[in-house]
Amino acid sequence: MTKEGQINLVLLGPPGAGKGTLAGFMVKAYRFLHISTGDMLREAVKKGSELGKEIQRYMNSGELVPDKIVTRTVIDRMSKPDAAYGVILDGYPRTRTQAGSLDELLNSGNRSLDAVLYFKTSEEVAVKRLSGRLVCPRCGRNYHVTNIPPKKEGICDTCAVGLIQRADDRPETVRNRFSVYEQRTKDLIAYYEEKGLLREFSGDRTAEQLFEDIDSFLRSEGLIDDDPYEG
Ligand code: AMP
Repeated sequence: MTKEGQINLVLLGPPGAGKGTLAGFMVKAYRFLHISTGDMLREAVKKGSELGKEIQRYMNSGELVPDKIVTRTVIDRMSKPDAAYGVILDGYPRTRTQAGSLDELLNSGNRSLDAVLYFKTSEEVAVKRLSGRLVCPRCGRNYHVTNIPPKKEGICDTCAVGLIQRADDRPETVRNRFSVYEQRTKDLIAYYEEKGLLREFSGDRTAEQLFEDIDSFLRSEGLIDDDPYEG
């Protein structure tokens, strides 16, 4: 599958950059493990615990959940056996503090980051994507009313249940999430640029085009060494 059987990638980009969709393509093509902090936090909210309620307050307003809470969820997930062969981190780190925690976590497991894929995306494209996004409440699969429509309108292809709009995908919240992201990730981008890990892609391209760009990059770096479409 991959050159050394282990690869650690970070997907960076504002909400609406297509990180989740791209991660889905990469999981299918390379069988990587996809770790999405947004998905894990939504799961925690569903459980309805006190912590879940606290998390929900941040998420619904588009603000970031405190570093400590998010890092704890990532540490727990990374310690599971299925994370041993490499992961795609989607939505984490989002702050410079989280990047430091990730370095420590990887170092302690003798792992290292191979690349940070940064999907630079315009606000206009991001808002359009998110305001048309529909999600399956059961399996978490993402659709879009025009870009990625389900086979049957409003129904998940896999689970046959009704699709919903995420509370934080309302246009006012989307704009706030976008600007929170921009403010908080400036440092992060500079940090990874300095380390020589940052690789910029245009998040305004379609998911298929973007996947082709990423696939070429991973091959040119020797991180992938067989046919992504096999199996
Ligand atoms: P996402 O699904 O990645 O767009 O994340 C949805 C929401 O979850 C964000 O708007 C934040 O409130 C929260 N969130 C996800 N990842 C993080 C993170 N790494 N740090 C802080 N908050 C996060």
